[in-house]
Amino acid sequence: EEARSLNFIEHIIEEDLTKGYTKNDLRFRFPPEPNGYLHIGHASSICLNFGLGLRYNAPVNLRFDDTNPAKEEKEYVEAIKNDVEWLGFKWDKECYASDYFQQLFDWAVYLIKEKKAYVDSQTSEQIAEQKGTPTEPGKESPYRNRSVEENLELFEGMKEGRFKDGEHVLRAKIDMASSNMLMRDPVMYRILHKAHHRTNTDWCIYPMYDWTHGESDYIEQVSHSLCTLEFLPHRELYDWFLDQVVSSNKLRPKQREFARRNLSHTVVSKRKLLQLVEKGVVSGWDDPRMPTISGLRRRGFTPESIRNFADTIGIAKRENVVDVSLLDFCVREHLNKIAPRVMGVLNPLKVVITNYEEGKEEWLVAENNPEDESAGSRQVPFSREIYIEQEDFREEANRKFFRLKLGGEVRLKNGYIIKAETCTKDREGNITEVQCTYDPKSKSGSGTEESLRKVKGTLHWVSVPHAITAEVRLYDRLFTDPTPDGHKDKDFFDFVNPNSLQKVTGYLEPSLKGSQVGDQMQFQRMGYFNVDKDSTPEKLVFNRTVTLRDTWAK
Ligand code: ATP
Ligand code: MG
Ligand code: MG
Repeated sequence: EEARSLNFIEHIIEEDLTKGYTKNDLRFRFPPEPNGYLHIGHASSICLNFGLGLRYNAPVNLRFDDTNPAKEEKEYVEAIKNDVEWLGFKWDKECYASDYFQQLFDWAVYLIKEKKAYVDSQTSEQIAEQKGTPTEPGKESPYRNRSVEENLELFEGMKEGRFKDGEHVLRAKIDMASSNMLMRDPVMYRILHKAHHRTNTDWCIYPMYDWTHGESDYIEQVSHSLCTLEFLPHRELYDWFLDQVVSSNKLRPKQREFARRNLSHTVVSKRKLLQLVEKGVVSGWDDPRMPTISGLRRRGFTPESIRNFADTIGIAKRENVVDVSLLDFCVREHLNKIAPRVMGVLNPLKVVITNYEEGKEEWLVAENNPEDESAGSRQVPFSREIYIEQEDFREEANRKFFRLKLGGEVRLKNGYIIKAETCTKDREGNITEVQCTYDPKSKSGSGTEESLRKVKGTLHWVSVPHAITAEVRLYDRLFTDPTPDGHKDKDFFDFVNPNSLQKVTGYLEPSLKGSQVGDQMQFQRMGYFNVDKDSTPEKLVFNRTVTLRDTWAK
């Protein structure tokens, strides 16, 4: 690991360590709401919290913030656990806010007895109307001064299911004139007759985020509760709720905020991603075009590349948009080290080598990874007929075109130097075949003078009779605009890229037969690929993870 300077959260912790905290006091949590799959924004928060755990050798809990049964599901819980593990992190305890429902209820009863909470029987519209504006104080609810006895009876009745959704709420009694709108008697509980994925129908009242989060941190004795900036105004309320319950011999959690990370050309919000899934814009949460962890995984991103991305962008105090090309860079850098090289032609043009014996085949030695000697080598078949990419041949081209042109030479990767002599066209003038000759002494690695002869271009190719075919999926950005959800007058759906997925038939070297789901490789000059989960032994399916920035044909 390269040494880097401390980020501002680490500075806060270092300072706390000089002011009475010991290293044993440190504890963190990652607190997803199980209402969707994790996305690349969450990866930042995961790497931050678990990274602090590693740095300070402190426990990190995985806490599900599961207080809204209307939107949460077990499927999401499982997916989140899977994604955090896949990213390479181990949590200390697996916690659920729902495990604290009874404790939270008991504390709420205590607040009622302390005259710090009351049951409001107005509609949510009435309550909203009385909130006031930031410059104008709110109005107190006519129910604000109910007796403790009446409040206790009503709250008990709410819990027992004697009321319908919306009939009553429990509110904290704070200050209707506070300059912080969130302090104007915030709602602590609402009635919701809905089964919960863990507590089933045990509860029909559910605690609100603000009431739940800090108290959960306190129960788990989390020292630093890190959240994104939109919670900054909530901090006062977080502290107020803690003030009511904290005992002096226990650690008091503190909330600190960092900036949300946004990625260009996509949306990072579970709610919006769910809409893409529901409207069928993508095939599911793990569609390889999705910025979800599961989509990135299926696309061929590695945990290392995502962690490296999160570390590179670091954490900030102000929101900004990180260009998706940085994420591509990170995966390219990692795959360059680990992905074996193979050859596959995606847009084939047949080349016939006229001076090569008909029916003959030979097996050429191909290095698996120039970045990794231990990766060894394999054999690739060569014969009289091969495929090259359409784009790699032109009848005529200027001197900067280092690929194949009539009268010009190129080297076939791992093989011979060939020279284009003539070509055949169909009626529309499309080139259908190129006739070449080869230099029999130029075989790569044969040690002859000709084998070392330098020609400007090197092409990948596949022997026609030996080629296997596969479906190859090529991806482009899901949105055409860098900030699809950043337009006042337009919806992010207006910017969906209609060409974000292209399926082609690839002609691949036969060593790829038997490839397994998840296998990763570089198709030389075409990019990094992996085997998609839709793949079967009869019909292989590959995803392009990312294109190569460079080709070797310099
Ligand atoms: P979404 O809008 O996608 O649902 P969220 O913040 O509501 O995001 P949570 O499940 O509550 O999602 O998030 C868990 C943690 O991840 C929180 O601490 C949250 O602040 C953090 N987080 C979520 N999105 C980002 C992001 N884009 N960048 C950094 N951290 C994020
Ligand atoms: Mg949230
Ligand atoms: Mg959310």
